[in-house]
Amino acid sequence: MKTGTVEMDEIIAVNTIRKDFPILATTVNGKPLVYFDNAATTQKPWAVIKAIENYYTQLNSNVHRGVHHLSQRATDAFEASRKKLAAFINARHDYELIFTRGTTESINLVAHSFGKQFVNAGDVIIISALEHHSNIVPWQMLCEEKNAVLKVIPINEKGELLISDFKEMLDEKVKLVSINYVSNSLGTINPVREIIELSHQKNIPVLLDAAQAIQHLPIDVQELNVDFLAFSGHKMYGPTGIGILYGKEKWLNQMPPYQGGGEMIKTVTFEKTTYNELPFKFEAGTPNIEAAICLGAAVDYINSIGLQNIQQYEHELLEYTTDKLSVINGIRFVGTAANKASVVAFTIDNMHPYDVGVILDQLGIAVRTGHHCTQPLMDFFCIPGTIRASLAFYNTREEIDILTEGLKKAVSMLA
Ligand code: PMP
Repeated sequence: MKTGTVEMDEIIAVNTIRKDFPILATTVNGKPLVYFDNAATTQKPWAVIKAIENYYTQLNSNVHRGVHHLSQRATDAFEASRKKLAAFINARHDYELIFTRGTTESINLVAHSFGKQFVNAGDVIIISALEHHSNIVPWQMLCEEKNAVLKVIPINEKGELLISDFKEMLDEKVKLVSINYVSNSLGTINPVREIIELSHQKNIPVLLDAAQAIQHLPIDVQELNVDFLAFSGHKMYGPTGIGILYGKEKWLNQMPPYQGGGEMIKTVTFEKTTYNELPFKFEAGTPNIEAAICLGAAVDYINSIGLQNIQQYEHELLEYTTDKLSVINGIRFVGTAANKASVVAFTIDNMHPYDVGVILDQLGIAVRTGHHCTQPLMDFFCIPGTIRASLAFYNTREEIDILTEGLKKAVSMLA
């Protein structure tokens, strides 16, 4: 297909790339799998799958504690992966990256540790109406514990943040702003530069939940000047059970440990424990070594395609999808922000999203239906949920055509 100026295939050779993902060649209910649930988790390329096999056949050993050969090699690979991730987001120092279980744990770490140190009764934490539950609940828990106040940046009907309201919320009581870069339910790309600048004018740090941004957009933490960044490996073609919390050294150094245990200590006596340096202060216990190492393989894979190409291709595919689906009887798009990542969410008049999802599944098409862990956002739109197709660079226009036909079928069956 001809897009704005170039052929989409010139941006990404999608048919070649699809061969990197073995699961894309499988069938579901006798039909070729059409996978549009990438915002929930992405599929894994051979590069990652083989790295997992390589780890368990060649490297498996605990890190940081052994003098023996395998332990040294596992430690080297683990730290090399941290370096790769640091370069990927252009962090100033490797030790500003903490390995966590994922975005959820990264946010909880900040809520507990930053919250313990810096948040007191009457203070304010700001989030937005677009947040995933994992960027709501930890702050609610903190506010409850500390008698602090949670404030929410409102949105308009398109699903865009109301920045003028945000400006008015910023005062000396605000201790942290925590918002997503890209909304998982609507695809809205938030004006994070502006949000960070406005917050910094009042000396307020900003946490970005980048769970839905890291796989779609190039991110440079120094250029953004963001204070904390959280993301998950499994949404960026890497393994589950691993993620990153990036934090500026100046904040991480002032924050107390999140969990106690091995690795995070320097010395322990029954009277007193002294804590390890960054990043180990925040990495109690044996980490998910395999996943941390293989996340490095995912970064290499993404770099081999190039985030600029991914962004451009996915943008073209988003436009194609929006165009194609607009012919479906009764469709209403939910989330029509001017600046969007490749998420298309919608309802169909008089049909429950779940019923549509079940029919699509029979056709081998994987979409997600429901509230997408953003119940307050669904309440804003007065709907129980949406049907969401979230696209990745391995998705094709042909798959969008299959989805369109599947939806027409669902409409005729459920009407
Ligand atoms: N924030 C956003 C915007 C998300 O989309 C998700 C995952 N759906 C999360 C946080 C939580 O990520 P995880 O479950 O990997 O911790």
